[in-house]
Amino acid sequence: MASEVLFTIKKNDQVGRYAVASRALKPGDLIFSEQPFAYGPKSDTPPVCLGCSAPADCSTLCSQCLWPVCGPECEGLPIHRENECAVFAKAGVKFQPVNDSAAVCLQYECITPLRVLLAKEKDLKRWQEEVEMMEAHNDIRKKRPLWQFNQTNVVGYLRGPCKLDRFPEELIHTVCGILEINAFEARTTAGHFIRCLYPKLAILSHNCVSNVHHSVSPDDFAVYVRAVVDTPENGELFSSYTYSLWPTLVRRDYLKESKYFECKCPRCQDKTELGTHMGSLKCSKCDNGVILSTDPLSFTCDWKCTHCDFKTNAVAVKKVYDTVQAEIDAVEMLGGPEGIEQREAIFRKYRSVFHPKNAYMTIVRSALTQLYGRADGYTIEDLPDLLLERKVELCNQLMEVLDVIEPGFSRIRGITLYELHAPLMILARNLYTSGAISKDEFRKKLQEAIDTLGKSVEILKNEVPDSNEGQLGLMAQQAYESLNQNFEVLIETA
Ligand SMILES: [Zn+2]
Ligand SMILES: [Zn+2]
Ligand SMILES: [Zn+2]
Ligand SMILES: [Zn+2]
Repeated sequence: MASEVLFTIKKNDQVGRYAVASRALKPGDLIFSEQPFAYGPKSDTPPVCLGCSAPADCSTLCSQCLWPVCGPECEGLPIHRENECAVFAKAGVKFQPVNDSAAVCLQYECITPLRVLLAKEKDLKRWQEEVEMMEAHNDIRKKRPLWQFNQTNVVGYLRGPCKLDRFPEELIHTVCGILEINAFEARTTAGHFIRCLYPKLAILSHNCVSNVHHSVSPDDFAVYVRAVVDTPENGELFSSYTYSLWPTLVRRDYLKESKYFECKCPRCQDKTELGTHMGSLKCSKCDNGVILSTDPLSFTCDWKCTHCDFKTNAVAVKKVYDTVQAEIDAVEMLGGPEGIEQREAIFRKYRSVFHPKNAYMTIVRSALTQLYGRADGYTIEDLPDLLLERKVELCNQLMEVLDVIEPGFSRIRGITLYELHAPLMILARNLYTSGAISKDEFRKKLQEAIDTLGKSVEILKNEVPDSNEGQLGLMAQQAYESLNQNFEVLIETA
């Protein structure tokens, strides 16, 4: 693993620690990489194997501690054996059987905090240098119901039944806070979600348009942090703690409730979200009016039409967002032809409500770009020109938004460019074989499609090779090389 670090830590009274580039950075430059200080199950998780994090049906238990695992191989994994297994076995704390192994299991709340506490004892130096000063906001969290929840399910459980009263109450609460505020989600090789604590990554301030990209290895959960855009020497580095496709009202609400700060980044301060109109609604009272917030940093202010007297307010707008989000969530797991049809139905339903680039139109668009060309009956070979054009249109509209909110070498731009290249190629060939364009025009269009794929390769090659996106990157790379080699053959045999 590269040990060079291309950032410098700065401090100021308002925001505390932050990081700046220690030299000018180009998109794709590796700024740093690090191993997680600790990792483990997410909060609110159903029972999972304490070795590999796969969902557990709770019928197989570890022979040492009697907590759920997949089997002998998983119970012997160091992440379990050297952490909670030893603690539970020694204290005789058994897993209490559950009725529904798919439901949230509160017994798991203590696992990741416990792993952090044990990591502190194993590597006190790293704790003191990197973790201890991480933001926990105990002062704010003390007033929230979650504090009492942690008191019962983590603090009380560890200090009581687990006999770990060597860890003071305040320290355990601090660890819970550090995890709530700073942990990043990662996925195992098999695709199961976990949370990881990356102390260096946590130094970066939040911005709703980040200028770094992080990619986690599913093998050892090391994180690789790269620049996504040109960044000057001493330019501040920003990561994002929220979902970039959400509109400002939703992002700021999430950051306030779960990360305990009110974002005032340039995107949050701008009524049009940097011209993307991701929060904007269409006015129903006039022809071309767009409804915008009068004060983007307020959760209650008026929202007014740009063309007529119509006004509403932030609370009502948030309700509209919540309604469409619920409809999107309801079809989230739906793939195949039904997945396409239901999302197109949501798209049609809200076309008259939202600005065309609104966040929810964008979220649906993003899912559709992936489904057209893959779903049964909608594979790329199946698609008639009309739907190939639909896929191209969806990708282009999505890219217009991504260029602003996920600029440069971001994963989602890499994936969208990949999705765009195939319909462009097939449409070019169909136009040529039907006699609609000349051989020279075909050559030009084919080259454009290959260049689009080339841009995708340039971005996706920065993904960790054994991740899903890394695999897509390798596939894109091979396709790109083969298309370049066979360019003339493709023209002559079309
Ligand atoms: Zn397992
Ligand atoms: Zn065990
Ligand atoms: Zn923001
Ligand atoms: Zn109006």
